[in-house]
Amino acid sequence: MSVNRIWIKNPLANFTANTLDASGGLVIEGNIIVDVLSAGQTPAQPCQQVFDASEYVLLPGLINTHHHFYQTLTRAWAPVVNQPLFPWLKTLYPVWARLSPDALKLASKVALAELLLSGCTTTTDHHYLFPDGMEQAIDVQVEAVNELGMRALLTRGSMSLGEDDGGLPPQNTVQSGEDILEDSQRLIARYHQRGEGARIQIALAPCSPFSVTEEIMRASAALAEKEDVRLHTHLAETLDEERFCLQRFGLRTVDYLESVGWLSPRTWLAHGIHFNDGEIARLGKAGTGICHCPVSNMRLASGICPTVELEAAGSPIGLGVDGSASNDASNLMFETRQALYLQRLRYGTEQITPQRVLKWATQGSARLIGRSDLGELAIGKQADLALYKLDELRFSGSHDPLSALILCGAERADRVMVAGQWRVIDGQIDGLDVQSLIAQHKVAAKRLIATL
Ligand code: ZN
Repeated sequence: MSVNRIWIKNPLANFTANTLDASGGLVIEGNIIVDVLSAGQTPAQPCQQVFDASEYVLLPGLINTHHHFYQTLTRAWAPVVNQPLFPWLKTLYPVWARLSPDALKLASKVALAELLLSGCTTTTDHHYLFPDGMEQAIDVQVEAVNELGMRALLTRGSMSLGEDDGGLPPQNTVQSGEDILEDSQRLIARYHQRGEGARIQIALAPCSPFSVTEEIMRASAALAEKEDVRLHTHLAETLDEERFCLQRFGLRTVDYLESVGWLSPRTWLAHGIHFNDGEIARLGKAGTGICHCPVSNMRLASGICPTVELEAAGSPIGLGVDGSASNDASNLMFETRQALYLQRLRYGTEQITPQRVLKWATQGSARLIGRSDLGELAIGKQADLALYKLDELRFSGSHDPLSALILCGAERADRVMVAGQWRVIDGQIDGLDVQSLIAQHKVAAKRLIATL
């Protein structure tokens, strides 16, 4: 049987997310990295293809661990540009309740394309809106991911606590516990792939303490345990949320999380900002992961995630762009740069290095979603790669290529490989007409806010 091997030869610089040196490049066989070569080393076996990477900075494909694809339809919407989280949500819920399957498909493709072009090969999405007519929302997202040829962990989000019962979202956007659990089970059975190399996975994701009941939190944890899938939610994003938890449950956010059975290594949390020392220690001991979303946290002025203490306590840290109504870009390389700058404000320059934030965007994010086969350049890992050229004006005069990627503001990969297949070549996504996608997406975005 003939085997197809490709040598990604002699990159200009590389970041492996481990202690290996990949200066001589990588050998890929099928969808797997079969060799990592140090400087001067050549492949032990013949390679049918050689890709000269001497003008490229080579990274493991970036991994995005928090997003709401549908929000690309409400980017930079004037009524919420200057609002903090709770009023921002209350103004946006009625708009989002008008979402249609076609609009979600376009929104998902826009978010995925933007991520892919930034060097992201695996993403999660947190979709929690299932108004009438949107019962197939996750199915629509699976189609979009497959069309783009990426990997995704799609979370079956949920909202079950409406305004009538003291929650934040309007009643027409919440579902019964029964409907949520039934659909969660259906999606796991239909789409969740297990083991190394999985392309589509499903996780369970009740939205936030102020939009779901304790019952659905407990039932989701039990179902996740039974089906061995991951758990995701928003937690400790703002002080308004902390006050809500104290008022409604008589508990701080982490106490609430523990009370519903979620303080576990199966869980990863979006934001994780407002924790005290004891809470950080408990999260770390439990191995609960934290997705840092710097741009969203800055835009909504929510606060700064205590990444260094969380990591020291034992919590894996990953990065997320968050939804496009609070970022409003879906560019994970841009987000990595912002993580460096925001975290430097808290911890100074020496602790927060380009290598540290790149590790969060790759290996750290992979740990959050339970994937030991992704996020690193090493033998046996999936061949998911991002390669950047430093040939734009912004890089001219730069010296250290890896630092230049972050400090000069790289935002577009020239080449991206997912599972051994090139998905981006010369900065273009294979098989996607971006101009036509933008034209259709703009119409859908206008329609969503029309006649409000
Ligand atoms: Zn979010």
